[in-house]
Amino acid sequence: MKKPLHPESLMMTHGYQPELSEGAVKPPIFQTSTFVFKTAEEGKAFFEVAYGLREKGQDEQLGLIYSRINNPNLEILENRLCLWDKADDCAVFESGMSAISTVLMEFLKPGELLVYSSPTYGGTDHFINDFLKRIGVSSVSINAQDSKEAILAKVKATGKADKVGLIFIETPSNPTNALIDIAMCKTIADELSHEEQQVKLAVDNTYMGPVWCHPLAHGADLVMYSATKYIGGHSDLIAGAVLGNTQDMIRVKTLRTFLGNMASPHTCWLLTRSLETLKVRMEQQAKGAQDVANFLMTHNQVDKVVYLGNLDEKSAAYKIYKKQYSSPGAMISFEVKGGEKAAFKFLNQLHLIKLAVSLGSTESLIQHPASMTHAGIAPEEKIKMGITESLVRVSIGVENSEDLINDIAQAFDAIK
Ligand SMILES: *Cc1c(COP(=O)(O)O)cnc(C)c1O
Repeated sequence: MKKPLHPESLMMTHGYQPELSEGAVKPPIFQTSTFVFKTAEEGKAFFEVAYGLREKGQDEQLGLIYSRINNPNLEILENRLCLWDKADDCAVFESGMSAISTVLMEFLKPGELLVYSSPTYGGTDHFINDFLKRIGVSSVSINAQDSKEAILAKVKATGKADKVGLIFIETPSNPTNALIDIAMCKTIADELSHEEQQVKLAVDNTYMGPVWCHPLAHGADLVMYSATKYIGGHSDLIAGAVLGNTQDMIRVKTLRTFLGNMASPHTCWLLTRSLETLKVRMEQQAKGAQDVANFLMTHNQVDKVVYLGNLDEKSAAYKIYKKQYSSPGAMISFEVKGGEKAAFKFLNQLHLIKLAVSLGSTESLIQHPASMTHAGIAPEEKIKMGITESLVRVSIGVENSEDLINDIAQAFDAIK
């Protein structure tokens, strides 16, 4: 038997047949809203499958109908994304938030309880504590330090332990790189499941996926991405993705069809192009981050460096790190000595590293979480999470790491 190819070898060709597109080596952009049926019988057969009126035949593909349901650019992209996480199926969305909110709406009903990790991405936090609360879905938050017993105790204290619909975690957490054990959360989901309710586990893998962590392999039911970040990787689009098994993905895709929040052909085409360089970009970014972190750790104007390559080997976090991740990644947070004033002066002196939120792109981006991405969190909560006035978060790009280090060094010199 032929050896299976690695995902990076398949990113240029998988799921695309040149003979269907005049031999074009790359998929064209299928900028069309609708597709012509050969016959009325064919149109009927396509709809029967799309609307679940009958099972798909053995070798039958879902026929092209209408671009809210399917489109070649969307399908090629989804097929390629499946390879990294070894997922049955994938759904691509017009943003990371639409991927996340669609999962939360599909797997939770009014009266049910959501268990989620805190801190979590600001948009997700708002959706949970504003929209979901308004429609009668309550929630309980857990932290990276919580043991399985502590989490189960928190859930029981709500009086709704038999009403849990979903466990949603984000690991590593942003911007503090706190780690949560995915397999442990799966055992909690199993313990909270009963005859009428199968509790699902969903993981936001934006920070470390799809190359350095594969949550489905650790027991997650669903994995979610802001594809705006590493997958897109060039700060030129907004998109999201959800992956999982066939049954769960039918539910996700059906809700997507009726919310109409799929990605457009052009966005999918850009993402398909980005996937060809995904692994080399991420590897270069991780290598650069290692160099920058080493420099920061010895700098006398830096108080503390939060970086996964720098964990105490005796800590619980290190154990989770070794089990779940194949690289320390390319996100570093560090404290500039002198509080917000010094941190702002430092940020204003950088030239090569751009002052902007977002992450995972080819250019390095830096920001001040306490006043920017995490501005909405109560001050005492921020301190508990380790988001101090001195903390800055940098996403390392693909630049030469010597140039990045020189940029940081000159900014520190300028504010001495
Ligand atoms: C950016 C981000 C999101 C939201 O994604 P958008 O593409 O901006 O909608 C969700 N989760 C994490 C961890 C993120 O970094």
